[in-house]
Amino acid sequence: MNYQPDSNRYQKKMQYRKCGNSGIKLSALSLGLWHNFGDVDVVDNCKAILKTAFDNGITHFDLANNYGPPPGSAETNFGKILKEEFSGYRDEMIISSKAGYYMWPGPYGEWGSKKYLVSSLDQSLKRMQLDYVDIFYHHRPDPDTPLEETMAALDLFVRQGKALYVGVSNYPADQAAKAFEILQQLGTPCLIHQPKYSMFDRWVEDGLLDVLAQYGVGCIPFSPLAQGLLTNKYLHGIPEGSRATKGVFLKPEQITSDILSTIKQLNELAVSRNQTLAQMALAWLLKDKRVTSVLIGASKPEQLIDSMQCLDNLDFSTEELAKIETILKG
Ligand code: NDP
Repeated sequence: MNYQPDSNRYQKKMQYRKCGNSGIKLSALSLGLWHNFGDVDVVDNCKAILKTAFDNGITHFDLANNYGPPPGSAETNFGKILKEEFSGYRDEMIISSKAGYYMWPGPYGEWGSKKYLVSSLDQSLKRMQLDYVDIFYHHRPDPDTPLEETMAALDLFVRQGKALYVGVSNYPADQAAKAFEILQQLGTPCLIHQPKYSMFDRWVEDGLLDVLAQYGVGCIPFSPLAQGLLTNKYLHGIPEGSRATKGVFLKPEQITSDILSTIKQLNELAVSRNQTLAQMALAWLLKDKRVTSVLIGASKPEQLIDSMQCLDNLDFSTEELAKIETILKG
């Protein structure tokens, strides 16, 4: 029998938050398909994760041309699952993709030229079997292409109907501000910025968040759990199958005794708040109204269920916030 989404999915605890000054709301938690949706992964698990997300009110699914492995396979697999299981629900979903990182050889296979971005989005749409994405991002700043050219490509996609909204990712505050100015002049305001942001990586607090507020642009932090470090999973060693065992993006040597000591203290504080550490780390980001949604990953449906309970308590006392600062300072 075909998948029937939970009819109560919008009556559960999910919150929907306005993205900057736009008219679009995003679920407070969004699901990213960077890991766990490639050809190396188990299709039934991919389906279970997506269904769990949708059944619990997650409406936003984040992809990029290079997600896999191999690159492109996450979009292909997502497209197949959409067709097989979610047909009829496209209008309830915000689907995003990106281009900026290496995809194919030669001078047009990465960065920010119009040539690359146009080809890449066409490829992404084919892989996902979609007519349009809801959000298309430039994935990283390009030191060699004029910002005007990259932003003109984003504007073109909206005019062509291949993307409804545009965003940038990994742009520092000054370049983000310039990009927002150009997009405003073109008549396609930037919807959203996707920066790395967690308790363990707070660069956005040094100017970017203010720029986003100034221009009315939403913020969707990626790797909000620091790839799993900000959970209780590494407290007693490195579990089999965890991201750290794969050793590519999170390496076992990053889990030092200092980091573990910090994680332990944060975990104790989380427990005192009746939360798991994952829930507290997400709540800590969502307490800031400039943060539209947190972009989590999950290797199992149970992780999503756990993380979503963060919405039960997004409030922090002054003492708790001070304690977190003390713990993070070491
Ligand atoms: P997270 O920081 O949320 O890490 C996800 C990992 O943490 C999971 O794979 C799992 O690890 C572990 N985890 C998640 N929830 C729990 C839980 N409740 N309890 C215990 N462990 C948990 O995010 P990601 O690093 O995966 O990034 C999320 C998304 O952000 C990506 O899918 C992508 O869409 C986007 N992104 C964007 C980038 C950009 O440049 N714009 C760069 C990187 C990511 P395990 O697999 O070990 O079980």
